[in-house]
Amino acid sequence: MQKGKIGVTTENIFPVIKKFLYSDHEIFLRELVSNAVDATQKLRTLSGFGEFKGELGTLDVRVTVDKEAGTLTVSDRGIGMDADDLDKYINQIAFSGAEEFLAKYKDSANSIIGHFGLGFYSAFMVAKKVVVSSLSYKDGAEPVRWECDGSPEYIMEKGDRTDRGTDIILYIDDESKQFLEQARVDALLRKYCRFLPVPVISGKEEEWKDGRMQPTDRDKVVNATAPLWLKKPADLKDDDYLKFYHELYPGQDDPMFWIHLNVDYPFTLTGVLFFPKLKENFEVTKNRIQLYCNQVFVTDSVEGVVPEFMMLLQGVIDSPDIPLNVSRSYLQSDTAVKKISGYITKKVSGRLAELFTADRAGFEKKWDDIKIFIEYGMLTDEKFCDAAMKFALLRDTENRYFTLEEYRNLVEAEQTDRNGDVVYLYTTDAEAQHNYIQAATARGYDVLLLDGRLDSHFVGLLEQKVPKTRLVRVDSGSVDSLIDKGDKKTVDLTPLQINEMSTIFRSQMPEVKKAQIVVEFEAVGADALPAMLTQNEFMSRMKAMAAMQPGMDFYAGLPDSYNLVVNTEHPLVKRMAEEASKALDSKVQPLADRIDTDNAAIEALRNDAPDGKLSPDNELRVADLEKSVGESRSEQEKIVAEYAATLPVVKQVIDLALLQAGMLKGEALSAFVRRSADML
Ligand code: ADP
Repeated sequence: MQKGKIGVTTENIFPVIKKFLYSDHEIFLRELVSNAVDATQKLRTLSGFGEFKGELGTLDVRVTVDKEAGTLTVSDRGIGMDADDLDKYINQIAFSGAEEFLAKYKDSANSIIGHFGLGFYSAFMVAKKVVVSSLSYKDGAEPVRWECDGSPEYIMEKGDRTDRGTDIILYIDDESKQFLEQARVDALLRKYCRFLPVPVISGKEEEWKDGRMQPTDRDKVVNATAPLWLKKPADLKDDDYLKFYHELYPGQDDPMFWIHLNVDYPFTLTGVLFFPKLKENFEVTKNRIQLYCNQVFVTDSVEGVVPEFMMLLQGVIDSPDIPLNVSRSYLQSDTAVKKISGYITKKVSGRLAELFTADRAGFEKKWDDIKIFIEYGMLTDEKFCDAAMKFALLRDTENRYFTLEEYRNLVEAEQTDRNGDVVYLYTTDAEAQHNYIQAATARGYDVLLLDGRLDSHFVGLLEQKVPKTRLVRVDSGSVDSLIDKGDKKTVDLTPLQINEMSTIFRSQMPEVKKAQIVVEFEAVGADALPAMLTQNEFMSRMKAMAAMQPGMDFYAGLPDSYNLVVNTEHPLVKRMAEEASKALDSKVQPLADRIDTDNAAIEALRNDAPDGKLSPDNELRVADLEKSVGESRSEQEKIVAEYAATLPVVKQVIDLALLQAGMLKGEALSAFVRRSADML
């Protein structure tokens, strides 16, 4: 019998292990089962090379809980260990790395968790005593028994094992009794060991008998030893992928499509990524991508590990370069992981490009569903964006799909403004903005449908990425002003008429909740409506973004500002202006003249003041004049408003514009309907 002290100078590693890893105690099982699987694989390899000539026999790994004895045992029939191996691998090596490490990182608990591969010693997170009973595969090997109670002292003696392989027996400590529950153990094995390459057996299959579930005598295998992602894509059918998908994520709709990843240079990586059908509310799904390292589950907290937009994808990524036993923050900063992330981006965009070229029609059909994913990718990942410029599609209001380049070619001729910018018109709601769309298409313009969740951001991205492009919402102005080609017609009204008409419309404007409406005049064409409501492009964009994104409350809180564009070419408006002139000019003109004279006097006084500073006398005079201007204005307003109130047609024109913009509601709507009936 050998007694000794585990080779470590740092006083005691176990408190470190227990303290820092309390939250992740469960990984001990992953570690021990992985070791057992490794030992089994090694034996297979040796046998393959002819270095091991004995019978392999069954090579299963077994996990057994014995509640009475308070033990959890992981058994394998792999290469086993003799006393020398134990000395080398368990007594010394396990700590040689740790020692150096603790010295270096003693101030930072996180990096300890991050870097320190726990391996075998993680058993002490849950066990008060660990016994290893092993028999090496080597000819004439002696069985060996090793025992340690969590102090650096261990006992190693001759064992009694007669079968090749290793038992790791954990005497579970009082705080960790949960690991003696079969159900808990099964759940952990399912989480971490589901795709390990050697059958892992835990307990017995159960079946329904005599009104309850009862164990049978068949072993329960918890894993699939040849997971789909390791097979050749050529050998797989769609059904295989779908079946695998539903095994991974039960209760989900079929994914739209998938990408099978398979590289061995510059690093090894396999996996399958699924594009789920995203629901309206586009929450980052709970069923996330799972990372594996040689078929051992590492994590599904992949934030920062895979590119952000891939958080919307599902599936598995398996690479020996993904470090086990590390915290997420470490994973994120790991260079191998970064490369992997970059590679996946490339692969995903490559595959999308392929799909696009191989089957344009099919791609268009999927587009509405994958659009959010692609836009998200383009907005958050420069490289992906560059690649996606070739296959990102734009859909117009006639349900035609175009690539960015195709679209530019389509609209360039008709929709270039006087500065040489190509103006892309878009609608955020084809129903509500129907009239504006109609006006634009009647003019020979095309209108894009950008009503997706990310489109308000995407609009900005397009302007950035496609030089000399401007996006303009179709309801942000009259057709003429949407694309300023420098041929805008002048408004055929006298200043006095504009003054009168402006007051006529302003005075009859209803209160619209949280909205400000400014009256404007434009010659829009005789066949256009007498008035329309438009919203400033900048404002509507900010509002749309604010609705999507916290932190933009400033814009969300602003009242909506609209323009009421009165069409001076419409016969009704023309007539209104003429009649207003007849009825009002004689009263309004003298007031207007007085305002002009007063203003001129104010200006003269100001201009005469040395250094712009008025004398006290003149200051009083200016104040009087300003008062007079104010009075004339209100007098004017009063006269015009009284006149306007006698004209139901003014209200009618305003209400029509509001109605068209979907802003005529409740009482105002009822009043409009009644007024319309009266007019008939
Ligand atoms: P790692 O697995 O990262 O090398 P461990 O502490 O888990 O670190 O294990 C140390 C070594 O002990 C392993 O590399 C292996 O040689 C040996 N070992 C552990 N478990 C077994 C086992 N079940 N059978 C054979 N050898 C084992």
